[in-house]
Formats: sequence, C-alpha cells, structure tokens
Amino acid sequence: MPLRVLILGGTTEASALARQIAGDARLAPVLSLAGRTTNPQPQPIPTRTGGFGGIEGLVRFLGDDKVDAVVDATHPYADQMSAHAVAACRETGVPLASLVRPEWQRHADDRWHVVADAEAAARALGAEPRRVFLSLGRQEVHVFASAPQHHYLARLIERPEQTKLPPDLRLLQARGPFDRADEERLLRAERIDVVVSKNAGGTATYAKIEAARALGLPVVMIARPHKPAGVAMADVDACVAWLHGLAPRGV
Ligand code: NAP
Repeated sequence: MPLRVLILGGTTEASALARQIAGDARLAPVLSLAGRTTNPQPQPIPTRTGGFGGIEGLVRFLGDDKVDAVVDATHPYADQMSAHAVAACRETGVPLASLVRPEWQRHADDRWHVVADAEAAARALGAEPRRVFLSLGRQEVHVFASAPQHHYLARLIERPEQTKLPPDLRLLQARGPFDRADEERLLRAERIDVVVSKNAGGTATYAKIEAARALGLPVVMIARPHKPAGVAMADVDACVAWLHGLAPRGV
C-alpha cells in the first residue's frame, strides 16, 4: 500500500518535491495550495486548493484522507500554516517533516536594515520621499499606504486584493526567477533609492539583493517570523529518503 503524503506547498521546493516523487509507486501524494495565485503552475501530482479551516479542519482532513505523513514545504513567511501543521500532526500522531529554506546571509558590502515586519519597513523608509522597489507578496503592499510620500514600484505575481494602496504606486507583474543583469538594469532605469525585501532565501529572487549590493543601494530586509517545524529537512532528497523510510499507518 503506498504511503499517503500531504505536501503543504506554494513554493519552488514543494514543486521540486512533487516532480521528484511523481510516478513513485511507494507514495500517494497530494499537493496542497493555499489558492493565493489564480493560475498556479501545473503540477505532476494531484493537487487540492484552499485552507483547511484551521487546526481543527486540518485534523479532520488528515483523518478523512488517511494521511500517513505531512511535508511542510510552505514559504518561510507562511508561519500560520506551519503552526497549524505542527499542532494537527501532534494531535493525530502523523509524522511531519519541514523543508526549511536557508536564509540569505549578509555580505560585508550589503547595506541591510533588518526590521521585524512590513509596518516597520514602511516606517524605516523615513520622512523624505524616496523611490522604493517593493519585492514582497501582494498581501503586504497595502501596508505602505501608511508612508504615502514615497514612489513605489511593486513587483508581484498578481495584483493586490486590498483597495487602500499607496497613492504613488506602479505595479510590475512578473514571476521569478530573475536575472542579476536585468535586476540591475531595472533598479537603474527606475532610479530606485531603496529595496524592500523579505529574506526569502533560495536562488530564484536573490538577484535583486546582488543588484542592490552592486549599486550600493540599501535594502530594508523584513526578518523571518518564527516558523514552527517538524523534523527539519535540508533538501528535497532528504525529504524523499525520509518518506521512503516510513510505513503506512495502520500497517
Ligand atoms: P500563512 O499565513 O501561514 O497561512 C494562512 C492560512 O492560509 C492558513 O492558516 C491556511 O488556512 C491557508 N494556507 C496557507 N498555506 C496553505 C497551503 N499550502 N494549503 C492549504 N492552505 C494553506 O501563509 P500565507 O502567507 O497566507 O501563504 C500562503 C501560501 O503562499 C503558502 O502556500 C506559502 O507557501 C505561499 N507563499 C507565501 C509567501 C509569503 O511571503 N507569506 C510567499 C510565497 C509563497 P486554514 O487555516 O484555513 O487551513
């Protein structure tokens, strides 16, 4: 009997894991997406979309779908989903692995100003009008309406849902990975003074950090939240090995 696996996804790593285990007869995986993106990338394994309904809903899902193991491969900033996964797996006894993407490390010539959240990032931009490159999820752009004196260029996969947005905002719809030379060109062409970013880790969106470094631009870096985890996995291979070592529950 194959091992029934729930993958909490929405990231490059989750998609890489899905590709690696597609067709693996030992595993019966389902990839879960929050549903934030209207046109998600096609996946080679079955998917489901939308929240579970809190911890209680996830506990019910694990039981109804007879899930044998959960892999949390959500984004480093998706802390609520991870907290729910830890609580629901503890309650049901379902093993949980967490694929944690390492943080970007500050280089000697990086000009990072690390802040706790998007609100603090908006305050850190200061009183004087600046040209700001916002490289955040669409859930946070509205926060910068509290600092309306700045010009914002926000790069997003999709438009923000909120209606109260900064008055001087231009949206650039694009999906990574991004190239270092293109990022430098963009920051120059838009005469950007400061970049606001999350410490996403990984390679897909690192080019803007390298471009800011090359141009001597400051980066307001939003620190990672505390993200509860199960058994920490460094990469997709470790995750697959962990899954192969598990037996279906009730066997
Ligand atoms: P979050 O704050 O941790 O989660 C909020 C709620 O969204 C969860 O309680 C859950 O609803 C639902 N949810 C989140 N991930 C889910 C998943 N994979 N499958 C089913 N439901 C999910 O997370 P978020 O910041 O909203 O992020 C949502 C998704 O976008 C995640 O899959 C994450 O990997 C991806 N993402 C996030 C960021 C970011 O910066 N936050 C960046 C890129 C991608 P219920 O309580 O109803 O179960």
